[in-house]
Amino acid sequence: MEGGRGRLWGFERERELLSRLIRSGRTGGCFILTGPLGVGKTTLALAFAMALVCEQKPGEGMVFCGKCRGCRAVREVRGEDFIYLFPEGKFISHETVSDHQITLRAFQRPQQLRRRLILMDECEKLNPQSANQLLKTLEEAPSYTTFLLVTDTEHLVLPTIMSRCRRILVGPAREEELRQAAGELFGEGRLPEELAPALGGRIALMTNLLETEGLVEGVLGYGSLLAEIISGREEAVSRATLLLSQLARALAETYQAREQERLVRVFGEGEKRSKLSEARKSELRRRAKAVVLELGLRLAMDRCGLEGERGRRMLMAYLRLMQDLRFNVVEATTDLDPHLILAGGVPPGAG
Ligand SMILES: [Zn+2]
Repeated sequence: MEGGRGRLWGFERERELLSRLIRSGRTGGCFILTGPLGVGKTTLALAFAMALVCEQKPGEGMVFCGKCRGCRAVREVRGEDFIYLFPEGKFISHETVSDHQITLRAFQRPQQLRRRLILMDECEKLNPQSANQLLKTLEEAPSYTTFLLVTDTEHLVLPTIMSRCRRILVGPAREEELRQAAGELFGEGRLPEELAPALGGRIALMTNLLETEGLVEGVLGYGSLLAEIISGREEAVSRATLLLSQLARALAETYQAREQERLVRVFGEGEKRSKLSEARKSELRRRAKAVVLELGLRLAMDRCGLEGERGRRMLMAYLRLMQDLRFNVVEATTDLDPHLILAGGVPPGAG
C-alpha cells in the first residue's frame, strides 16, 4: 500500500475533507468510500484508518507516523481492534460477519488502539443475509467504533446500508500526480506517455499494471490491435482476442497474489481460509479482463480520434459485433453492418 510507505499521492479534496472530520472529532459511525475501480479507495481507507489511531499525531488530521502501535496494527492487519473484512468467495457471507463477531465487537471498547476500526472491502458483496445482520450494528455503533466501507459499484450496495453511511466520493488523481507516483515507485520512464491519459488518474490501477511484468507493453499492443480493427482490418480480431486473454491472465495473477498475501496476513499461514477460493479467482479474472479491455479501448479511441462515452459505446458495439461474426455467438447481431455502427447506429443494449 502506497500510504503504508508514508506517501500518499492524489486525494487532495478527499484528504481535506477527512482531515476536517478528524479534527472536529466526528469520526464515529459509518463511512462509505466510493469511486472507480483502481482509483485507490482501499489505500485511502487504510490511510484514514491509520490517521484515526496514530499515537504520534492524534486528532491532527489526515496525518500518521506509519510506525507506532496504531499505524502498525492497521498496516499489518493485526490485533483485536482493527478488523478487516472482504469477500472470500462470491460474497461477504453471513459466516464471515459471524466469525469476526462484528455485531459483538463493534460494541466493545477498543483494547489497545484509540478506536475500534472495521474496514470492509467490496461491501457491495454483502449478501442480503449478512447485510441485514449488520444494519442494526451500523446504526447503533458507539462513538468509539468506526466502520469504513469501500465499493466501486455503489449502485449494488443495498440502499438500507447506504442510508446509514457518510458517503466519501473518491476521485481520480491528476495526471501529473499519477506520473509522479509512477516515477517515485517504479523509476522514471516506466510509465509510457501514451498510457498515462488512458489510466484516468487511477493510481492503484497504474501500480498493478507496472507491477505485472510485460503488461504495460502488452496493453499498448492491445490498443494498437483494437485501433487496427476500427480501421477495418478484421484479421486483427483473433490476435486481439488472444492477447486480451493473455493480458487478463497476467493481471489476474497480480491481483491473486496480492489477495493471497492478505488472506495469510488475516488468517495465518497454512489455515484453510488462507487459500484463495476458486470463486474469488474467477471474479478477479473477470475484473482483470474488464480492466485490460477498457484500457485497450481508451488507447484505440485516442489513436482513432474517437471521443467520450459515445465513442466508447460505438467501439464496444463494433468489437462485439466483430467477435460475434467470427464466433457466431449472437445470431441476432450478425446482420448488422459494422460500418453503420461506426457511423453512429449503435444497436440497443450493445454498449
Ligand atoms: Zn502512527
